[in-house]
Amino acid sequence: MDTQTVWQKSLDKIKQQISLPNFRGWFVNTRGVGIVGQKFIVAVPSAFIAEKLKSRYLSLIESVLEEFSQKKVNIEFKVDPGLFSLNLPQEEIFEIAIESKPSNGSLNPKFTLENFVVGLSNNVAFAAAQAVASNPGLSYNPLFIYGGVGVGKTHLMLGIGNFLLHQKTGKKIVYCSSEQFMNDYVAAIQNHRMGDLRHKYRSLDVLLVDDIQFFSGREGTQEEFFHTFNELQSKNSQMVLTSDRPPGEIAKLEDRLKSRFQGGLMVDIQPPDYDTRVAILQAKCNERGETLPEEVLKIIASREVNIRELEGKLIQILQGLKTKNLEPTPENITPFLGTNPPQKLQMDYKKIISSICDYFALSNKDLIGPRRHKELVLPRQILMYLFSEELKFTVEKTGQILGGRDHTTVMHGRDKIKELVIKDREVQKLLIDVRNKLST
Ligand code: ADP
Ligand code: MG
Repeated sequence: MDTQTVWQKSLDKIKQQISLPNFRGWFVNTRGVGIVGQKFIVAVPSAFIAEKLKSRYLSLIESVLEEFSQKKVNIEFKVDPGLFSLNLPQEEIFEIAIESKPSNGSLNPKFTLENFVVGLSNNVAFAAAQAVASNPGLSYNPLFIYGGVGVGKTHLMLGIGNFLLHQKTGKKIVYCSSEQFMNDYVAAIQNHRMGDLRHKYRSLDVLLVDDIQFFSGREGTQEEFFHTFNELQSKNSQMVLTSDRPPGEIAKLEDRLKSRFQGGLMVDIQPPDYDTRVAILQAKCNERGETLPEEVLKIIASREVNIRELEGKLIQILQGLKTKNLEPTPENITPFLGTNPPQKLQMDYKKIISSICDYFALSNKDLIGPRRHKELVLPRQILMYLFSEELKFTVEKTGQILGGRDHTTVMHGRDKIKELVIKDREVQKLLIDVRNKLST
């Protein structure tokens, strides 16, 4: 059997053992690409998926493969972004309709899933977007993405749209802002063309509606959207909605719409933590064919939290350096940084301790002292994790700082958080918060 056949057979087995959305989300675009000794190499479309497979499914995968090959197997993951578009179900050919109003940003090809930088603040939303893009209408419907200004909601939604568009399956896809839907509705009433409106929206395969919070108080529009929603959902057409807040918090939104929106998958995007901001700046530089030294990117990332402003600053700096013909050094970019106070980048362990204490409202003595209490377990594990991740402390050293705790306890705590960080929303939020406190 060649490698891919072995892998395919393993996938069939795995599929029986996990839920369908999980299978679609994590396994669909993978391939078996090589066997070297005990090593079985699996190609996956992104590092994020590799992480997820490693943390959640490694033992399952290994046991299934071992069953087939009758020997011990170690899995190695290899990232191949080209796989992103493999194995997707081919749909019937429809005419592709892309609604584009320049003012609202059409299905702008610039925003893709590939160039969406995944970090702690958005990885859950990204995974959901991937699942939806791989199986529109069948994994989560609707997908409801919410979060503050500039955190990447529109980017992610357009990423799904562009991904599906590039499948060339002929799906009818419409991206619109909620205002656009509203305007269409009002115009249809005025011109007695409700039939056209219904035909336009209810015949879609994919409907992406941005900033749905603006439906607030628009009763007629809500009524029309409710029926559109039901119709699309009943034929498994994928809907993706974004909002600046969860459905339950949108004022003057009919309960029946709230409950429809809540009935799919709701995911939030948090403001990016420092590491993600650096990675986003790096990506934006690359897209422009520019390079800035990491030390400079780090300085910029330390001054702004909002991604839009970060991008603005980056462009300003790139242009400024060019016009003045300056090297991209920390000194040379200083005049462009504005008045935001520089944030300290160097972390010391005391600062980590105090920010964890702040977050959990504990005293230093509670956190690093000998007291054993259930409530102290998580804060200490967070400490173990951050000491290891941020400061590269050895487990022995961390154990010492924690009043002589055993290094195996530290290892366990660190690994526990490593595990939680990819699946537990609360832990993610907490880490973002603690990390942001650290960089101020
Ligand atoms: P929102 O719709 O949440 O207000 P946008 O999607 O418009 O935010 O994002 C604002 C800007 O930030 C866009 O240029 C977008 O490309 C960029 N951006 C946001 N998040 C990311 C990310 N994770 N990776 C790359 N770019 C991002
Ligand atoms: Mg937006």
